[in-house]
Amino acid sequence: MVLQFTDRGIYCPAGDFHIDPWRPVPRALITHGHADHARPGHGAYLATRTAAPVIRHRLGDIPLDTIAYGETRRIGDAQVSFHPAGHVPGSAQIRVEVGGEIWVASGDYKTVDDGLSEPFEPVRCHAFITESTFGLPIYSWPDQAVLAADINGWWAENATAGRTSVLGVYSLGKAQRVLRLLDPSLGPILTHGAVEATNRVIRGQGLALPDTIQVTPDLDAKTHPGAMVLAPPSALGSAWMRRFGAVSTGFASGWMRLRGVRRRRAADRGFVISDHADWDGLNSAIRATGADRIFVTHGYTAQFSRWLTTQGYDAGIVETDYGGETLDEVTEEDPA
Ligand SMILES: [Zn+2]
Ligand SMILES: [Zn+2]
Repeated sequence: MVLQFTDRGIYCPAGDFHIDPWRPVPRALITHGHADHARPGHGAYLATRTAAPVIRHRLGDIPLDTIAYGETRRIGDAQVSFHPAGHVPGSAQIRVEVGGEIWVASGDYKTVDDGLSEPFEPVRCHAFITESTFGLPIYSWPDQAVLAADINGWWAENATAGRTSVLGVYSLGKAQRVLRLLDPSLGPILTHGAVEATNRVIRGQGLALPDTIQVTPDLDAKTHPGAMVLAPPSALGSAWMRRFGAVSTGFASGWMRLRGVRRRRAADRGFVISDHADWDGLNSAIRATGADRIFVTHGYTAQFSRWLTTQGYDAGIVETDYGGETLDEVTEEDPA
């Protein structure tokens, strides 16, 4: 096996390295900066140049080496290269070739071009390791233009009614993606400190985002009437929100496709937007690899691997510690 599944993470014996390990290892190849993939404590790190700033921001001064997309590097008897996963800026699928056999570990991915992340590129391989966060046919994402019109329409309506719009978004990926969809002519865009910290890193690497104002104690609904506020989901309904007076709350997640979830989250509006592939995205991505062996790591693993088997794939489930897009944002949120 080019890659093996161990209790520390995905392991390559030929190169003696792990991919996105969840326990400390000597050498870790990291697909992207979300907390369930990039963890502290490894002896050495390798990630793409565009993933590195966020990983450093989150993990501090770690021994991190960088690689360009498409660049091939020899590690032991393995040849590795990183390819765009379209999930968040810098996110990668990791291709590992040993003795002519090619495996790809895709981490998290999405096939829709969000205009910010490097668009997903299918990589031909013999075995493909896939997530299945939204691996049921009910998950299909609306068009980006429709989504933008929905969010901006909600914002404009709230502003007219004298309400502040507060939208719950994960700080890495989702927040920046929503920012690019907002129409800044509708009013000021305010950000929670956790969101703004990631915005600074993303802007620092040359990706353009609309102007935002970080919420400080002297800002409220009077200083910025009709504002759109982007905050981590955990801030929704918290004391932090009181400064905004009358608010309408929204939550942006793939889970908003489910009605009951929206109610549980206690948001007034749900917007179906995810940094993970939907059902069609997963299926088209897997087809494009040409692989016949598929390993499903997280999400609807049982249902999705069963589906793949009916489609003629040699598919199986792999136990990992990856979290996908959780409602409680334990995996996708800043640890701070
Ligand atoms: Zn992720
Ligand atoms: Zn993940």
